[in-house]
Amino acid sequence: MSAKILYGKDFAAQIKESARAEVEKLKNNFNLTPGLAVIIVGENPASQVYVRNKHKTCEELGIKSEVVEMPASTSKDELLKKIDELNADKSINGILVQLPLPDAIKNHSEEILNRIDPLKDVDGFHPVNVGKLVTGSPALVPCTPAGCIEMLDLAGIEIDGKRAVIIGRSNIVGKPMLHLLMAKNATVTVCHSHTKNLAEVTREADILVAAMGKPKFVTADMIKAGAVVIDVGINRIAPKKLVGDVDFDAAAEIASAITPVPGGVGLLTVAMLMKNVVTAAKLQIGA
Ligand code: NAD
Repeated sequence: MSAKILYGKDFAAQIKESARAEVEKLKNNFNLTPGLAVIIVGENPASQVYVRNKHKTCEELGIKSEVVEMPASTSKDELLKKIDELNADKSINGILVQLPLPDAIKNHSEEILNRIDPLKDVDGFHPVNVGKLVTGSPALVPCTPAGCIEMLDLAGIEIDGKRAVIIGRSNIVGKPMLHLLMAKNATVTVCHSHTKNLAEVTREADILVAAMGKPKFVTADMIKAGAVVIDVGINRIAPKKLVGDVDFDAAAEIASAITPVPGGVGLLTVAMLMKNVVTAAKLQIGA
């Protein structure tokens, strides 16, 4: 069997197109131009690339984008003050603090992220949004797992009644993925570094999500024939070589559909961020 390859760019384009249409509606019906503020502290080169990419995508879709650059010497209190200002700013609907924070304030990351108004928390990391996701209320959901679900929907892949297995239990991928898949009526198992007989569990999956950060860890013998394999992992194994958590070539022989790395799930994240900015704006005006 040779799997259908789920290319992220195709789905990202569709997600962005629908966000662009929503932005137009907000402008026309509510005279509201959604605004995103991204705070970047220090000069981490990878973070600068990500922030530029977010800014560019906002511009493409007609979303107002404000990049707040703060020096690496910024104190926790200065950063909290900036977040308070943006929380109060009516022209800003979404706020994101680019991670990682510089070493001097890294230990305060949780307190800093929790200062963001939950209605503007477009990363979906605030405990209020986590709680809403768990209880099934409308929430801002972390972009990467939300993007995976959107992709499955757009690809016409049924989730209802399926056995789903997630490898990884992080707050930004594994745990939200559990709740999103469960809300779609999948029967979900979450595996992690203490799981015994991992391959036995993963072989039960109709939908297998790998989010562990271990290059090519998931081999073909861990996959049920015909499964849908979503590879969230991004692992740099050489200066210019990225691979996922799944041994792609071998897995593509046995799966029915699979995401590549690079070029798969990674491309959905910024598109979903744009969607979250629109969702935040709508939640704020009760639309
Ligand atoms: P994390 O390090 O926070 O969590 C990894 C999880 O994998 C942990 O829960 C751990 O228990 C589990 N794990 C580790 N080794 C294991 C093993 N041998 N067997 C079973 N489980 C094991 O990672 P994260 O932040 O969730 O990210 C996971 C991967 O996804 C990384 O490669 C990261 O770069 C990638 N990622 C991609 C995007 C994107 O595409 N935009 C976003 C976030 C994360």
